Amino acid sequence: MKIGFIGLGIMGKPMAVNLMKAGHEIVAYDIVEENVSYIVGKGAQSAPSAKSVAEQCRTIITMLPNSPHVKTAVLGKDGVLDGAEAGSILIDMSSIAPLASKEIYAECEKKGVEMIDAPVSGGEPKAVDGTLSIMVGGKKEIFDRVYDILKAMGSSAVYCGEIGAGNTTKLANQVIVALNIAAVSEAFALSTKAGVDPRKVFDAIRGGLAGSTVMDAKVPMILANNYNPGFKIDLHIKDLNNALDTGHKIGVPLLLTSSVMEILQKLHAEGCGQEDHSAIAKFYEKIADVSISEKE
Ligand code: NAD
Repeated sequence: MKIGFIGLGIMGKPMAVNLMKAGHEIVAYDIVEENVSYIVGKGAQSAPSAKSVAEQCRTIITMLPNSPHVKTAVLGKDGVLDGAEAGSILIDMSSIAPLASKEIYAECEKKGVEMIDAPVSGGEPKAVDGTLSIMVGGKKEIFDRVYDILKAMGSSAVYCGEIGAGNTTKLANQVIVALNIAAVSEAFALSTKAGVDPRKVFDAIRGGLAGSTVMDAKVPMILANNYNPGFKIDLHIKDLNNALDTGHKIGVPLLLTSSVMEILQKLHAEGCGQEDHSAIAKFYEKIADVSISEKE
């Protein structure tokens, strides 16, 4: 099938590659030319705008940073809705505010364009392996129609409910990941300053109840003092903002989320916004005056 792909950043590139491996043709657009060149080098065609992508493809995937970017690419001038025919399907795989998904869906509906929200979890490594966890909101019949496309990028695609349900599920995921990295950082600052080799702590506890996918993915990065993204601090600030906004609107206090948000904001203020979210450990290293990274 010919699939449009808009947004070829850290996640979009490997996801588009996996779609091509599954036999699909990709028509790609990104505002950053070198991201388009990369995917063209892998066999995709390029398009000059989101509108042009939608004119050429009946199924269009967006993988963009946040709600305003998706609104621009879909609803803006030369956007998807300027080019899409009625009956086309927009699969928005970006992590955005659930309310924004509903607003974009309403505009799509006016043009007879179908839309699902289908954000992902797993980060770059799982995007490369094609083993993302995909959480989906929208009409169940549209989910069923695009299921095989989603499965070319993920090991699971779970239907969560009406439009916005995918992004609500993703907010829960992002709260858990942020708090988990903070818990790991706090605990490793404690045990390292108390004199135990952090590698030994990792080896001893990763198989027990405290072990987690987050611990396995992030502790090796922290030990290596490697904060190349991965998932950027600034994107996690965006997700926690969306979680806090949603919590405020529906009356759910997010006490721990707001504390971790302050840590992320401090890291952003110190110029670490483009680093991996495992850099939360750097905050703890500073306030505890300890280095968790392994000696050479
Ligand atoms: P990224 O910043 O690497 O990529 C975003 C891409 O969108 C960039 O190439 C940018 O040029 C492009 N873009 C921005 N505005 C555009 C527009 N109007 N039209 C066309 N292209 C535009 O981000 P990423 O890490 O790939 O994340 C994408 C989404 O996936 C985000 O919502 C993020 O929260 C989510 N996500 C990321 C990860 C991760 O580990 N990186 C994991 C799960 C989910």
